[in-house]
Amino acid sequence: MPDLHYVSFASSSEGNAGLLSHGNTHILLDAGISARRITGCLGELGLSAASLSAILLTHDHSDHIKGLPVLCRRLSVPILWPGTTFHSKDPFTIGDVKITAFGTPHDAKPSCGFRFEAGEETLGFATDLGYVTREIYDNLRGVERLVIESNYDPDMLRDGPYPPSLKARIASRQGHLSNPDCAELLSHLAMEGLRHVALAHLSPHNNTPELAYNAAAQGLSGSECSLCVLDRKEMTRFC
Ligand SMILES: [Zn+2]
Ligand SMILES: [Zn+2]
Repeated sequence: MPDLHYVSFASSSEGNAGLLSHGNTHILLDAGISARRITGCLGELGLSAASLSAILLTHDHSDHIKGLPVLCRRLSVPILWPGTTFHSKDPFTIGDVKITAFGTPHDAKPSCGFRFEAGEETLGFATDLGYVTREIYDNLRGVERLVIESNYDPDMLRDGPYPPSLKARIASRQGHLSNPDCAELLSHLAMEGLRHVALAHLSPHNNTPELAYNAAAQGLSGSECSLCVLDRKEMTRFC
C-alpha cells in the first residue's frame, strides 16, 4: 500500500465518507453515513475515532454530512468546511499532508475538491461536479491517484424514474459528472501521469458499476492505469 492512500467507507448519491491517510495523519473525508458506521469502518482499519486528525468536507449536502452532528458530539477534532475554514486557494497542511482545495460547479455553495500531496505522492479527489472546469483540470493534472465522480449514464438518466426537474438538475452544469464526461477527463489525465483511478459517487438509479467501469476503461484505453469502482455501501481500499 502506498504511504498516501484512501479507503472509501461508502460512495454513492446516498452517502459518502472515506479516510485519507499518510503515516499517522488520518483525515475523514466527508461524513455522509452514520457516525456508527464511520466508527465501525475506522475500527476495521485498527483505528479509533480519536485517531482522526481532522474532518474535511466537500460541501453541505446531506449525503456528505449526515453523520457529522453525532460525530461532533463525541469528538473534538477540527472540522474543515470549504469557504469558512479554508477560503483561499492557498494550500494548507494537516499533519504532513499538503492539501489544495479547488472549487467545483455544483448546486451547493461552496463546494470543492482536493489535491493531496505527501512527499512525491499525489492523490486527487473530486465528486459532485456538473462539469470539469479549467480550475479542476489544472488541480488534477499530474496526480498519480484519482478518486473521481462517475455519477450517471445519460441514457439511464433520460429513461429513468426521476421527475424531469430532477433529471435536469443532475445533468446541469451545477449537477453531477456523467460517465462520458468522466471518461473524457481520464483520457486527458492519463497522458499527464495518472496511474490509478477509483470511480466514485455512482447514482444507484441512473448508473451501474459496469456502465461506469466500461466508459472509464474506454477513456483510459492505451494507458497503463488501474481502474476500480468504489462500492456504494462497503469499504473499498483504493491502493
Ligand atoms: Zn453528493
Ligand atoms: Zn452534492
